[in-house]
Amino acid sequence: MSRTSRRTFLKRSAVAASGVLVARSFGHADAAAASADTVAPRLAQFDYSEVQLLDGPALDQFNTNHAFFLALDDDKLLKPFRQRAGLSAPGEDMGGWYSFSDAFDPPKNMTGYVPGHTFGQYLSGLARAYAATGSKPTQEKVQRLVAGFAPTVTGKFYVDYPLPAYTFDKTNCGLIDAHQFAADPQALAVLNHATDAVLPFLPEKALTRAEQEARPHPNIAFTWDETYTLPENFYLACKRGAGDRYKQLAARFLQDKDYFDPLAEGKNILPGQHAYSHVNALSSAFQAYLVTGNEKYLRAARNGFDFVRTTQSFATGGWGPNETFRAPGSGEMGESLTNTHASFETPCGAYGHFKIARYLLCLSGDSRYGDSMERVFYNTILGAKPLLEDGTSFYYSDYNNSASKFYHEDKWPCCSGTFPQITADYGISSYFRSPAGVYVNLYLPSKVSWMQSGVRTALIQSTNYPDVPETSLEVKLDRPASFVVALRIPEWAGPKTSVAVNGKPLSMDLKPGTFLPVERSWKDGDRIEISFDVPLKLEAVDAQHPNTVALLNGPLTLFSTGNLSAKITRAQLLAARQTARGSSDWVVATETGPITLKTFLAIQDEKYRLYHEVSV
Ligand SMILES: [Zn+2]
Repeated sequence: MSRTSRRTFLKRSAVAASGVLVARSFGHADAAAASADTVAPRLAQFDYSEVQLLDGPALDQFNTNHAFFLALDDDKLLKPFRQRAGLSAPGEDMGGWYSFSDAFDPPKNMTGYVPGHTFGQYLSGLARAYAATGSKPTQEKVQRLVAGFAPTVTGKFYVDYPLPAYTFDKTNCGLIDAHQFAADPQALAVLNHATDAVLPFLPEKALTRAEQEARPHPNIAFTWDETYTLPENFYLACKRGAGDRYKQLAARFLQDKDYFDPLAEGKNILPGQHAYSHVNALSSAFQAYLVTGNEKYLRAARNGFDFVRTTQSFATGGWGPNETFRAPGSGEMGESLTNTHASFETPCGAYGHFKIARYLLCLSGDSRYGDSMERVFYNTILGAKPLLEDGTSFYYSDYNNSASKFYHEDKWPCCSGTFPQITADYGISSYFRSPAGVYVNLYLPSKVSWMQSGVRTALIQSTNYPDVPETSLEVKLDRPASFVVALRIPEWAGPKTSVAVNGKPLSMDLKPGTFLPVERSWKDGDRIEISFDVPLKLEAVDAQHPNTVALLNGPLTLFSTGNLSAKITRAQLLAARQTARGSSDWVVATETGPITLKTFLAIQDEKYRLYHEVSV
């Protein structure tokens, strides 16, 4: 046995013994995934069916998106594909980016930009929603859409199409999710045809924007394709049984020279890059690591995400003003507060952020990835405005000094595709599984159920966190069992943070920035309670603007409303008080009167401000 195969063998044996990646409800596909990976992460994701959101804003947002896409007309969704295939194409045009249009004139007029681009994401969101809820009409819709899409697959679709890789990547994701999560019988066969159809339109390798600009292009939109995000879903397609050619295709589009190699060497080459697609590409690096075992890809994914968190992020956890990463030390993050309202591409950005954070958290067991998800969750995506009937979508979070929540001017943009995907992922982002037990990552009303050493086990979490900084988890068991419940103690947690089991405080040391493993023999009805000591703190927008600060209450950024130009001092901000226990409103006393600050979720149509100029 060679060294490599021995190492692989040992890793697989460990996995088999622990049962981490052993199939649960979606049997054979999970087992195939485990055998295709050469690296076994410490933690595994739960299946969608194992985590249930309970009453609260996360469930509301998920339900709203689920109902929205379930009700969306099949004919309208399939129309651009049927048109290009020369089939009868009943139904109205959806409009915006989704339908072919002669008005398309980039960058001035984006109507007709990438027809059908979000079809795969809507399919994916529905397939995941089915897996999370078991809703039969949702599964039927997924299967109807795949059956409707199948006869439309043709290379003709991509003739004169500006972003073939972008749209195909989303189609790929939708089909492999339809297969994996909605038991669609023909999705993988349809994917095979769709792959044959797109291949003649893809370049020989992943191209940077500069490389695309250097090649002939009918208009500027043809220089915006995102070939470098393809590998993730190609690897997943292979692992889910679509065939070995997907592994080769994945390798072909890994952007080593211009992206992963320098990132792996610790070079921050993010500045100037398109933000969301380059965060999304980190998930391709991560999948390359799992499948090939080449640690270069792990270093690339980890370093890239660290650069995003530490050099590109606003206090909210959002990043990339005007969808572009900035040079550290340039002061451009601070300047963006006055020169743009396009501060963070929210549904897409949060989706990409959650995905790579989940991957890295599973691999490392490092709770700080969870801290980062929590920040993005409460301060960005959870406060996104809902989709409107006509495809009007929330896209950018606004951190301008005179900010408001606003919809994007184009209908059915990219963010309408990632929105139903990320809300379907809230459950699987909240808990993770280890051989020893369960990891609690997000504190939101929810229930997770699993088999622990042959015992049917569940945790039911009740909370109004973070407005009320505490949470309670009830253990449900058929019979007593010993296992670990690991609780995320956020890095921001103050010294008075405490954990109690059945009312008795634990004597263990709580280390902020780690998971606290609580191991004991649990019995039905046991209750874990966490009370968080939440400090207020100020965070400057960047080093060049040290007096431009946001106020944070633990994971929450607080946005001022009302008099946005009021003079405020650091001391006044740090003396902010919640108007009542559990309220999303806070008050800061200033010389010119009180100012109300709100959480992002609580903001409606009022103007608001994230960063304040403080003199002292
Ligand atoms: Zn987007």
